[in-house]
Amino acid sequence: MPDSLDRELDASICPSVPPLRDAVQPHGCLMAFDSDWQGVSLASANLSRFFGLSPAEALGQPPEEVLGADTVTTLATALAKGLPGTTIPSGQADVSSRYLYVSAHMAGRHVILEVEPQEGEGHDLPGLGYAWGLRIARASSVKELYNQLLQALHALTGFESCTLHSHEYGGRSIRLGQAGTLLEPLPSEVAHCGSAPRMLIDSQAEPIELLAAPGPLPDLSHCPLCLPPPLLRAWLTDRQTRAALILDLGETTPGRSLVICRDRQSRHLAPPLRHLLLQLIQLVVQREALLLEKRETRQRYRLLHERNTRLQWLAYTDPLTQVANRQRIEQVLEAELAIASRNGSPLALLLLDVDHFKPINDTHGHEVGDHVLRRVAQEIQSQLRDSDHLGRWGGEEFVVVVPGCDLTQAQELACRLCHDLSRCRIEPVGQVTASFGVADHKPGDTSRKLVQRADHAMYRAKRAGRACVRTQEVDE
Ligand code: GH3
Ligand code: MG
Ligand code: MG
Repeated sequence: MPDSLDRELDASICPSVPPLRDAVQPHGCLMAFDSDWQGVSLASANLSRFFGLSPAEALGQPPEEVLGADTVTTLATALAKGLPGTTIPSGQADVSSRYLYVSAHMAGRHVILEVEPQEGEGHDLPGLGYAWGLRIARASSVKELYNQLLQALHALTGFESCTLHSHEYGGRSIRLGQAGTLLEPLPSEVAHCGSAPRMLIDSQAEPIELLAAPGPLPDLSHCPLCLPPPLLRAWLTDRQTRAALILDLGETTPGRSLVICRDRQSRHLAPPLRHLLLQLIQLVVQREALLLEKRETRQRYRLLHERNTRLQWLAYTDPLTQVANRQRIEQVLEAELAIASRNGSPLALLLLDVDHFKPINDTHGHEVGDHVLRRVAQEIQSQLRDSDHLGRWGGEEFVVVVPGCDLTQAQELACRLCHDLSRCRIEPVGQVTASFGVADHKPGDTSRKLVQRADHAMYRAKRAGRACVRTQEVDE
């Protein structure tokens, strides 16, 4: 019997309740029972095509009358286990497919069944789901994640276009991946279509009416078989879309997002395939949350690392001259001594004291004295190699730890530093000089002994008239 005649007949013999505004896509049929499975409260006008009973005959009857006792038991068990639905044999010649897929869900005090021909047999859906799921689970960035999702949807649905749309993404569009994977703003027509997956099988097909028994009506907003809202249909039709699948990703980056799969041909996606797509969407949402958490953790770690570095720098740096402080240069000296002792490599130490520094303070003030100390540190530092270590020993005294340098080389370095410093003018003071003591590492040395020898040498330089270099005594 042709559909239209079927519908007219069904409608004419139906009880007096007017058809509902919500209408079903002719690909399947829809039924609702009360939650006690006592009586059919709602049926689409094409019911007889699937179960041989018109809505008029079915409404108010126990579901067993329409579906048979076995199917009702199977469905009740599936629902109790939280399964989305089950496959039953199709008993009607009107339906081309040998099997029907019955999706069941609760809506308030109603059980809703959506019945669709079971197509796509022979597809290894679990295998495909596993393969795509693996790629999604391995995505290492949000960009790659959405790219994988769109590729999966494209491959699994066969739809011409699969695009990602975001609610909070006004005006601009960013490239998420390869061609076709743009993040586009979410059209308001689509944004208002609710969070349920929306499916349009054939925009040109005549909708099927729903007929209800007297009593409260069920909420059909989560039924993919119901026609999408008119605004959404108009938006799709404007884009020459005949079939569409709209999947909600919920709150993601950068806001609530939807994927819209569209095609210019009529297309039906069997419920098991749709369930698989929803599972992939769930996987994407979870993976994105994980990636974002990872990114935040990395950022927090970086911040912590920066703060630690800063703290360490503060702990090891002399605030006035910005060179290593006493504590740090002592650590460095210990470390270099250990290396020199183990490797038998040379190590030298320079101790320098600014000459007549007190009169500088007395004449020009403490701030000028500070300025002189900063400039002296800069001048010395600028002459050193990266492997040398300059530190402020205290007051107007500095230490240079010179790894890989023997006494003669260290003496040459000290002479150069002494000479260069005396030639550079530090305004407003003018010429500033320093006296240098030089010592080198001897077997069995301690840092204290090494510094002491350099200190004695430095005092000999003072006694020798300042602005000169002296090395440790041979027998020291
Ligand atoms: P000599 O040539 O014998 O080394 O004489 P000197 O005047 O340099 O040595 P003395 O030890 O008499 O004086 C050092 C002065 O350095 C005394 C102290 O107030 C000053 N001083 C120490 N630390 C600082 C500082 O951080 N800033 C300033 N402006 N002066 C400091
Ligand atoms: Mg001094
Ligand atoms: Mg001094």
